[in-house]
Amino acid sequence: QEFDFNKLVSDLVEDLQRTTQDHVLVASYAAPQFVVADDERIGQVITNLITNAIKYSPGSKRIEITTKASENEVELSVRDYGIGIAKADLNKVFEQFYRVTGAMQHTFSGLGLGHYISAEIIKRAGGRIWVESVEGEGSTFSFAIPLKKVKS
Ligand code: ATP
Ligand code: MG
Repeated sequence: QEFDFNKLVSDLVEDLQRTTQDHVLVASYAAPQFVVADDERIGQVITNLITNAIKYSPGSKRIEITTKASENEVELSVRDYGIGIAKADLNKVFEQFYRVTGAMQHTFSGLGLGHYISAEIIKRAGGRIWVESVEGEGSTFSFAIPLKKVKS
């Protein structure tokens, strides 16, 4: 079904901000863009990315959420200034049950499923998902999905 991508993001940001005390979600939105996809699933990905950003940045308040639109896709990026991810682990974080096992990471609990599920959902929507990160400085997780759903 068709939905307004920015509206979905801003509704979720509002909900998550209400239940988050320490972090400030700073969002900036592109012009309205309509996407044909499963809004519940895409919403699940957005929630995963933002809750991970909060979880892995206990010492810094700011989370930046940005939407962008191009001719044929919409993009969301979630930036945190938290613990970051070592280079060697970067391409593994989307694998099933993968959890980084550094000194910084072992105090956080989880199953290692969030990003795996996000990657599956984005793949099915015909999009891509990726991460840029510097250990000790923070991470930016992004995904892009086509404006018209690609049949797989
Ligand atoms: P789950 O989401 O299943 O509760 P999880 O958060 O450990 O558990 P994922 O969301 O799949 O699992 O993330 C995989 C791993 O990638 C995490 O264990 C963590 O080591 C690392 N990671 C994910 N997001 C971030 C982030 N924003 N900053 C730093 N490390 C991250
Ligand atoms: Mg997670």
